[in-house]
Amino acid sequence: MIIGVLKEQQPENRVALTPEGVKSLIALQCEVYIEKDAGNNAFFSDEQYLNAGAQAVSRVDVISKADIVLTINSLQEAELGSLKPGVLLIGCFNPFFNHNFVKSLQGSGYTSFSMELVPRTTRAQAMDILSSMATIAGYKAVLEAALALPKFFPMFMSAAGTIKPTKMLILGAGVAGLQAIATARKLGAMVEVFDVRSAVKEEVMSLGGKFIEVEGAKEDAAAGGYAVEQTEDYLRKQNELIHQHALKSDVVIATAQIPGKKAPVLLKKETVDAMAPGSVIIDLAASTGGNCEYTRNNETVVVHGVKIIGKSNYPSEMPADASRMYSNNLVNFLKLLICKEGQINLNFDDEIIRGTCLIHKGEIVNERIKHIMMK
Ligand code: NAD
Repeated sequence: MIIGVLKEQQPENRVALTPEGVKSLIALQCEVYIEKDAGNNAFFSDEQYLNAGAQAVSRVDVISKADIVLTINSLQEAELGSLKPGVLLIGCFNPFFNHNFVKSLQGSGYTSFSMELVPRTTRAQAMDILSSMATIAGYKAVLEAALALPKFFPMFMSAAGTIKPTKMLILGAGVAGLQAIATARKLGAMVEVFDVRSAVKEEVMSLGGKFIEVEGAKEDAAAGGYAVEQTEDYLRKQNELIHQHALKSDVVIATAQIPGKKAPVLLKKETVDAMAPGSVIIDLAASTGGNCEYTRNNETVVVHGVKIIGKSNYPSEMPADASRMYSNNLVNFLKLLICKEGQINLNFDDEIIRGTCLIHKGEIVNERIKHIMMK
């Protein structure tokens, strides 16, 4: 069986499989075709892939010959018609928002797994690409803020006087938020954190953050550890609290999200307008509308000296390790799909396989996506 890896299109620098990943797939009795130069921007050369046992081929060969195609987000709708019948496509296809892609797979006879759909369970942790990429985003967000801020992060007591440490507010303590706390604390910033899930309070405190909370948040055990939408009354109280704490902060890192939904607006224009000039807001939720009302996706907006940075692909700025993490997650997932003779064996009784499957033989399998597409 042939597993093919596509080169991503710029500005994406990552690659879906590393040379180490090739070795793991060859150990599973598979052949690996890698599109020429696929790893260049992530600092993995064709030579490294060849040494690991892959063949470097053209894009057309990957698309027309592979039984499983691995990608991050490079597959174009126009290329779908050239895939091998019955192919298995694995990537991050953004199915909550990219409905055209889902529609173009419907009725195609292909099977597709979208890695954003991996359930957030303990068993699936080693395949959780969203968590891997959010770890990178949380880390890079803090570094970006440190470079953009006209101040030090740590406290300094020097002959030139005492410099106060940076005050940071982090909105959302999921994977990105927790990584941001850890990185900011290492750089010496003082960190306050807000989340609607009280379950994260201890984790925040153990990383050295101060947890601020609003009483009365709606939580739902059935939401798989994710936040749920809140009542109007709660949102009003939350808005007041965030306003007060943002005004005391030099940096705000916003990471709040509810999967598959538009990001909640937590930083209103009037809050940003009242923040001190020179402050920095990093909005990691930019691609789903942003947590800040001023955010523009993949742009930096400056409002009376406050910088609002809305980059939405930090992992691509750290392509070597981002590719390593993505590749390891994919290989762990592929181990569930490939039997010891090196053939595809899809066991839909397995909750990870069922939960991650977007389309099987042209039919939508994932219940959440089915629901969205029926609307
Ligand atoms: P996550 O689901 O693990 O965490 C999100 C957190 O937000 C949760 O703890 C949730 O409880 C909290 N939250 C939800 N609604 C809230 C509200 N109203 N107020 C306060 N907290 C609220 O998500 P994650 O994996 O940490 O990702 C965080 C964000 O980073 C997402 O928007 C994701 O798309 C984004 N992301 C951005 C990049 C980038 O390069 N910019 C890369 C990866 C991920």
